[in-house]
Amino acid sequence: MIKWLIALYALFFLTGCFEPSIERTGSLIVIDAGHGGHDGGASAEGKLEKTLVLQVSKKLYEKFKDKGFNVHLTRDNDTFLTLAQRTKVADKKDAIVFISIHANAIADKRRFSQVEGIETYFLQKTRDAKSQRIAARENASVLKGTDRLSKNVIIDSVLNGPKIIESNKLAIDVQKSIMRNIKSHYIDTKDGGVRPAPFYVLVGASRPSILVEVGYITNPKERERLFTSDYQERLAEGIVEGTIKYIDNRKKEFGF
Ligand SMILES: [Zn+2]
Repeated sequence: MIKWLIALYALFFLTGCFEPSIERTGSLIVIDAGHGGHDGGASAEGKLEKTLVLQVSKKLYEKFKDKGFNVHLTRDNDTFLTLAQRTKVADKKDAIVFISIHANAIADKRRFSQVEGIETYFLQKTRDAKSQRIAARENASVLKGTDRLSKNVIIDSVLNGPKIIESNKLAIDVQKSIMRNIKSHYIDTKDGGVRPAPFYVLVGASRPSILVEVGYITNPKERERLFTSDYQERLAEGIVEGTIKYIDNRKKEFGF
């Protein structure tokens, strides 16, 4: 009897019956590469955030496509986008998630070697000074060239809604998965965790939305790794795996 059960289990396992099946065809994922054009984002030693996040976003595009998703990149070249341009695809089409890719920086040169790590943000007001500082820097860039109406988006109006709860869950799955992928080869990478912060780019998208700060461009060790294909592959793999885990857990809500 036991032998028979084991054989049956092995058969199910080999044929993939225990793997959750997802109807990914037609499900849209929006990848937002931060900055672009005249807005280089953070910079250090001649390396620009806008270049790095485009490279990572392109890898994400390919990987999500390979998994059968429909993917939209807000930019696939070095151009500047307004806040409305970044979020309109996620709103018009039925995107299931919106993922914005950025890289972090600090202003204090004396601490360049100490401050490092990967952080994932979801939209929420916070008293945490560090998160406020990072949101202020990213918001200043994204609001360049934005009209007055868009600038008056009231963060309060979207807080505490279902989107915030879902975004928090997505952020947790993605951060966990990134760290697992990165730490398998870069054991000393710091896990900056999941954090709430008031990012404007996340206000505009009406879907579960997160912003990944893939590392500190001001940290010499991290900067060197961030611009290698291997590190970018692992970052992208982690984001894709985490997103799929989130979708698998919530496929009922999406009507899969
Ligand atoms: Zn940025």
